Amino acid sequence: QTGSVGFIGLGTMGREMARNLIEAGHTVTAFDIVGDAVAAAVAAGAKPAKSPAEAAANADIAITMLPDTPQVEEVIYGEGGLLASPPRGRLIVDMSTISPVAVRRMHADLKAAGTDFIDAPVSGGPIGAKNATLTIMAGGEAAAFARAEPFFRGMGTTITHVGAPGAGQAVKLCNQLICGINIQAVCEAIALGRASGVDLEQMRSVLLGGSAASWMLDKLGPAMIAGDADAGFRIDLMLKDLRLVQEQAQALSVPLPGTALVTSQYIEARAHGEGGNGNQALFRVYDRMTNR
Ligand code: NAD
Repeated sequence: QTGSVGFIGLGTMGREMARNLIEAGHTVTAFDIVGDAVAAAVAAGAKPAKSPAEAAANADIAITMLPDTPQVEEVIYGEGGLLASPPRGRLIVDMSTISPVAVRRMHADLKAAGTDFIDAPVSGGPIGAKNATLTIMAGGEAAAFARAEPFFRGMGTTITHVGAPGAGQAVKLCNQLICGINIQAVCEAIALGRASGVDLEQMRSVLLGGSAASWMLDKLGPAMIAGDADAGFRIDLMLKDLRLVQEQAQALSVPLPGTALVTSQYIEARAHGEGGNGNQALFRVYDRMTNR
């Protein structure tokens, strides 16, 4: 079953997700505030749009993949936005990681205007986006989820309706908490292994065969060992997610001491001008602490 998609936000993740929707046979009309991002989507087979409303106009579904809550609010509530000009299919899916509180407000406002809204954040990183193997966790009404599911299948493999509006974000925030603390654990182990003089690549292979194996050790370990701070999920975005985790935890009175510690380390990394680096660059905090 194929259809038409208005895709808004063509960055690290969105450009790959839009391309996979095209490869799955869907028609994609693409918008981003960065003209080059739209041009790249057009080269991959999308039609260009000049606003979110234009991207959505003839679409069965509008999908947003934007940095943070204010950008999603702009695309929904702003001029040329989706609240006033919803997609023909009256279905909007936000796949960014944003505030669950904001998601519930958007859901209510759109519902009052006759449009379904699903929060469907993702896990799997740029690799998962590229290979269409994302894990997608969706919140919202079951009927709306069912309408979105054929489109999710073009982008991901593990696709689950996890509950009411905002539940997708609630699960994603738990995911991010684990990711942040896992990255810290791998960086810390590499710092100790290096000081101990062991072969770090071999250490990584050995550990991947045992109970310390993790996605972070597997996918980000090579960049940490090679000292490659560049690409990937930006530290600024990780700090945004850790902020959302802590807002949720404070609202619900849940202490998260591990999250608090790793958040401080990411703030230290940003203070050293590394907000634009990939989140594996937490290893630089350990480089500084060990005077490397
Ligand atoms: P990104 O910054 O690379 O891409 C965001 C895109 O949105 C950019 O192209 C930007 O120009 C565009 N944009 C910003 N404001 C806009 C607006 N008002 N209208 C239209 N376009 C606008 O970010 P990303 O890495 O692709 O991440 C997107 C979301 O997915 C974030 O919420 C992030 O936390 C989440 N996420 C990222 C990853 C990852 O590994 N990169 C993994 C899972 C989830």
